[in-house]
Amino acid sequence: MKIVINGIHANLRFSAAHMIPEHESCGCIHGHSYIVDVKVEGKRSGKHGFVADFKDVKGIVREMCKKLDHKLLIPLKSPLINFASTDRDVKFEIAGKRYSIPSEDCCLLELESTSAEELSRYFASALFRRLSEKYEISSVEVCVNEGIGQGALYTISR
Ligand SMILES: [Zn+2]
Repeated sequence: MKIVINGIHANLRFSAAHMIPEHESCGCIHGHSYIVDVKVEGKRSGKHGFVADFKDVKGIVREMCKKLDHKLLIPLKSPLINFASTDRDVKFEIAGKRYSIPSEDCCLLELESTSAEELSRYFASALFRRLSEKYEISSVEVCVNEGIGQGALYTISR
């Protein structure tokens, strides 16, 4: 069985800035109001016969959203970004453009990109790992929407 959580109605959202290095229009720093939709499939278990308690799923996703909220998302594994420092200020260069951003304004992520595709993989992997500690989960699907109308869906299964 699957449980489904709609990010708009369940308030699983965050606002953040990012850039897609060397992309014609998305190469400049810009922002989105992201919405995270979640589906969890698994075996019903426990006293209540839940696939997973909605409260647990939303708690994990909200905690992740909070970490990203109102930050500039920076992908540490991007092959297109040259980092000079990630201490007090995050200093880096992309195709000749030089940036220096206070570290408290940034969220550094162990990702190759901060595209909707990579962010959905990031959410799905963490959620799958965390829920598996407590429930018999067979798959987790996460859609990270860049506003309303476009998103990337990633599925991770056992
Ligand atoms: Zn964007």
